[in-house]
Amino acid sequence: MSDPTRPPGPKIIAVANQKGGVGKTTTTINLGAALAEQGARVLVIDLDPQGNASTGLGIEASDREYTTYDLIVGEAELSQVIHKTDNENLLIVPATVDLSSADIELISNEKRSFLLHDALRQHAMDEFDLDYILIDCPPSLNLLTVNAMVASHSVLVPLQSEFFALEGLSQLMLTVREVRQTANQDLRIEGIVLTMYDGRNRLSQQVEADARDNLGDLVFKTIIPRNVRVSEAPSFAMPVLTYEPESKGARAYRDLASEILGNHARAAA
Ligand code: ADP
Ligand code: MG
Repeated sequence: MSDPTRPPGPKIIAVANQKGGVGKTTTTINLGAALAEQGARVLVIDLDPQGNASTGLGIEASDREYTTYDLIVGEAELSQVIHKTDNENLLIVPATVDLSSADIELISNEKRSFLLHDALRQHAMDEFDLDYILIDCPPSLNLLTVNAMVASHSVLVPLQSEFFALEGLSQLMLTVREVRQTANQDLRIEGIVLTMYDGRNRLSQQVEADARDNLGDLVFKTIIPRNVRVSEAPSFAMPVLTYEPESKGARAYRDLASEILGNHARAAA
């Protein structure tokens, strides 16, 4: 039962696309940083065994004693799995390769699809006073991604401005529909964001036109340009918003955060 005296809790967004290299991790880190810059308290959950979001936000491998795996199986306190970053409004639960075995290990667990959902709704979460939780999904429609979709209010889909970009989207949407029918009927599509866009390239323009024709308002107005600063920032263990605050990439992620905050404000009005 929802308790009207209790605050509604953070808005939870899964950043998902089963294709690798489309900008999921980059979008999670930089949208998180942009929301934090605008005053929101944000938690990033690294749900990819590759741990790229953890590295990109400066959590060294030796610092990852407790990870998303422990969060999911409930084997650690929240204060142990939630790490600070250089930005005080931006927190992260890091990942390591041990997450890759979760898929198989959890198969016999009756609640296997709800583990992340339940972990994020425990009372102990309240003390972190979060406004947003962004989940960086692995490049697969596996049990981890299903956990993310079951736990979330919405799914944000990065779409690389490349040939074949729209292929695979129908499979992703099918998974969203299945999760709606079985576990999370209110799951929304937050939006589809075009990433690594090159305005001088006809192909990028064509992908944008196709996406807007086929998907209409689901496509964010904001487009993330291809920008070398964006790809350099993770090797300095920081979001591009910190690394090069006035770069085109940093500005685009700020615009995306504003667009999302604006949509949420409108929906709440
Ligand atoms: P995914 O998490 O979907 O696998 P990543 O976010 O790791 O994708 O991005 C894949 C690669 O593309 C990374 O090397 C990243 O630095 C680079 N990249 C992502 N977005 C941009 C961008 N806007 N401009 C330039 N390089 C980008
Ligand atoms: Mg990634």
